[in-house]
Amino acid sequence: MAAAGGDDRRVTTLAELARAGDAIAKTSSKLEKVRLLAQFLATTEEAELAQAARYFGGGVFPAGDERTLQVGGAAFSAVLRNVSGADEAAIRAAWRRHSDAGDVTGELLSRVEDRDTEPISIRDLGQAFATIAGARVARERTALLTALLERASPDEARYIAKLITAELRIGLREGLVEEAVAVAFGAEPAAVSRAVMLTGDLGEAALLAKAGRLDDAAPRWFVPLRSMLATPVADAAEAVARLGEDVWVEDKYDGIRCQLHRRGADVALYSRDLKNISAQFPEVTDAAMHLHSDVMLDGEILAFHDGRVMPFHALQTRLGRIAPDAAVMTAVPVIYVAWDVLMVDDEVLIDHPLRERRARLEALAVPHPLALAHLERVRGAAEIDRRFDDARARFNEGLLLKQPESQYTPGRRGLNWLKLKRPLDTLDVVVVGAEWGHGKRRGVLSDVTFAVRVDGTDQLATIGKAYTGLTDAEIAEMTALLLDITVADHGHYRTVEPRIVLEIAFDAVQFSVRHKSGFALRFPRIARWRHDKATSEIDTLSRVRDLATAIERDRVQLVDQTGA
Ligand code: AMP
Repeated sequence: MAAAGGDDRRVTTLAELARAGDAIAKTSSKLEKVRLLAQFLATTEEAELAQAARYFGGGVFPAGDERTLQVGGAAFSAVLRNVSGADEAAIRAAWRRHSDAGDVTGELLSRVEDRDTEPISIRDLGQAFATIAGARVARERTALLTALLERASPDEARYIAKLITAELRIGLREGLVEEAVAVAFGAEPAAVSRAVMLTGDLGEAALLAKAGRLDDAAPRWFVPLRSMLATPVADAAEAVARLGEDVWVEDKYDGIRCQLHRRGADVALYSRDLKNISAQFPEVTDAAMHLHSDVMLDGEILAFHDGRVMPFHALQTRLGRIAPDAAVMTAVPVIYVAWDVLMVDDEVLIDHPLRERRARLEALAVPHPLALAHLERVRGAAEIDRRFDDARARFNEGLLLKQPESQYTPGRRGLNWLKLKRPLDTLDVVVVGAEWGHGKRRGVLSDVTFAVRVDGTDQLATIGKAYTGLTDAEIAEMTALLLDITVADHGHYRTVEPRIVLEIAFDAVQFSVRHKSGFALRFPRIARWRHDKATSEIDTLSRVRDLATAIERDRVQLVDQTGA
């Protein structure tokens, strides 16, 4: 690839990456996307290969690297104003046209004349990102990012913005990047997928593939594996059809997913999005120190009081609190409920059957506040139904159904873990705001904010946002109507007259400070556009409160406290 200015090290440039990215975006053929990316990766300099593969996967830093760029939307807009000289109105108009940070950046910079740009290599970009992540204060970060974008051509800047916002939007799902790595280096696609699954890192997998050493891929201590996920099923019969007659049933706990690594004197807790959350739960990390083996566990952190699992909102007061004080820890004690073990000492267990992993988990005799998920081994759909009815009676969201012979597949929503959920009531709400959609939904107001009525008044209180569930034709119709009833246009968000009534389905109601109502819905989705209902007929805040408190009052979840 290109020679670096000044020395004869070979480098791959960001401009080359952008060209490859644009070519990939242009074709809708998956095969062609894979071919183009494979061609690019095969010719990328080895020192930049891991970065390039990661960038095409939408990541910036390696797995297990806890740095982040910490550049939010507002900071990025400020940088964009500095570098492009565009005013608020021009930035808003560009947003409306593109709904994409990369395209907005590219367009605004292409309008500036006589810019003094300088080629950026992938290596340079990596260094710039590292410096930005290492900046101590926001002002320093903004200055560093401004300097980087000032150097960049509009095309380079477009990709820098895409990477910063972690949205490449060139139609590359991670599976395609894995395929491209396989094609580039003549490896088996399944071997590349497995390496990504184990190391969590496309970059590392690309390097191993290039070196012909994919078999060496293994989980590493203190690099969190992605969580295994569950596939939803409609009923017990479907579960049995997929899993067979022998099914393992656990409660579906409602806390936060957490992977626990304990090795020697070190313990770390990782959230589902792979962030290190150790400092928030000292009682869990302390207990893990008392385990007799090194372990990697999968489980959930739950608020737990008087022998009962508390609802999610109780746990919320603990979230984000680093080094909680004694008062908070007493008010909201937590437990860690483990349902899986991925490594014990240096033995990797993920390929072993769940039956064996559970036995190894039970053998750990975990000390309080560590506990085990309550497991029942059932046979046939009727028994699952009974367990499901029990869970519903205890106001739980549902059950997890697992195949006892299955392996642990990190990051995969496989068919060996199924979830069976309680269908909750729906709420009729009114739309009070809307945002322009992204990707396929670009150019339509597909994301709506909605509200319920405050009892006995005309006031509305927002309770959530949703963007799925309507047909394309309905979205187009709704966009036209939303434009018509706009009260204020804030660029990417607009306030609208409360005229559109929707029926919203959801998984749970929670207390929340995010919305004016004091509640939030979990996984809200639009069930129906209620053309037949008037705004005066929507649901009220007291109905929401009733739903939330019924769940809080009556919910019981079972955990097994083996070592307590
Ligand atoms: P969902 O978030 O609806 O896709 O459901 C999957 C989530 O359920 C997982 O990410 C876990 O956080 C959670 N979960 C609760 N109980 C269990 C369990 N017994 N086994 C596995 N996952 C569970």
